[in-house]
Amino acid sequence: MTIEMKAKDVIEKNLPILTRRVTACPIPPFLKVILVGKNPSSLAYVGHKKKMCDKVGAKCEIVELPESVGEGDFLKNVEQINNDPQVTGFLIQMPLPSQLSHLDVYSLVKPTKDVDGFHIDNFKELYDSNVTEKTLLPCTPKGVIKLLDHYQVELEGKDVVIIGRSHIVGKPLFHLMNNRNATVTLCHSKTKELKEKCQRADIIVAAIGKPQFVDSTFVSPTKKQIFVDVGISRLENGRLVGDIDFESVMKKNPEAITPVPGGVGPMTVYSLIENLLSATEKQVK
Ligand code: NAP
Repeated sequence: MTIEMKAKDVIEKNLPILTRRVTACPIPPFLKVILVGKNPSSLAYVGHKKKMCDKVGAKCEIVELPESVGEGDFLKNVEQINNDPQVTGFLIQMPLPSQLSHLDVYSLVKPTKDVDGFHIDNFKELYDSNVTEKTLLPCTPKGVIKLLDHYQVELEGKDVVIIGRSHIVGKPLFHLMNNRNATVTLCHSKTKELKEKCQRADIIVAAIGKPQFVDSTFVSPTKKQIFVDVGISRLENGRLVGDIDFESVMKKNPEAITPVPGGVGPMTVYSLIENLLSATEKQVK
């Protein structure tokens, strides 16, 4: 029977540990989020982050700036948060409006408060294979690893295909899995024979942004495979789906698969809280 790898199971198990870590912190973990405008997806994501902070007892404040905010005002807010000793974690919710899109947002957040794990100083630890429990890793790839660990999916020696090479998902996940001694193939829009590569893999991760792109034709006819779906898209009928056609792939009885919603998405928010705690604990030191 196919195992559905659900975030709920991981979060329920680990939430008490996070709550204890919050209580044990000598200074209160305090996340500040800059949200520019009222993009519905951004509002929803920020809401999830605040809710998870509330659940573990961490403080979270959303700094809402108007869609039309100028560069000067935006940067003033960034500087203020970076320099506020009470704020232990800081992120800027993407996307930003066009007048700010030229900014190198990843380098604006102080690396020690960078709970998104996007600053080059934090990436460097990952690229140098210098990852510790406290490294501020990008939240989605970190969440994928946590989910696989929970379901005791061994990575060493496995052939992994990751579809999508973005800075926030595919590339960091490539390094995380490589550090775990998996043999990783990072695929993209110019990759040839993608289906065949997927059919040969032990684990397939889809992070493409194309709803239900991976279907049963990507599945090996002989091997029991594991499918991880990072994608989130809303269909015209309002249904939330991933980059994997869940029903189609399920017909081939894979070993395991993540659902959408309820798979990688909540693991991303969970990892953000882990990063907030790591950032807070490091700042105390
Ligand atoms: P992105 O920056 O748009 O990157 C998409 C990647 O997919 C690119 O590397 C692109 O290749 C590749 N691609 C596009 N079409 C392809 C094709 N036909 N065949 C093979 N590869 C193809 O996307 P992203 O930010 O990583 O996000 C991907 C998906 O994950 C989205 O649905 C997003 O909403 C979701 N997401 C979810 C979470 C979560 O918490 N669950 C977090 C982040 C993102 P090129 O590089 O060649 O263009």
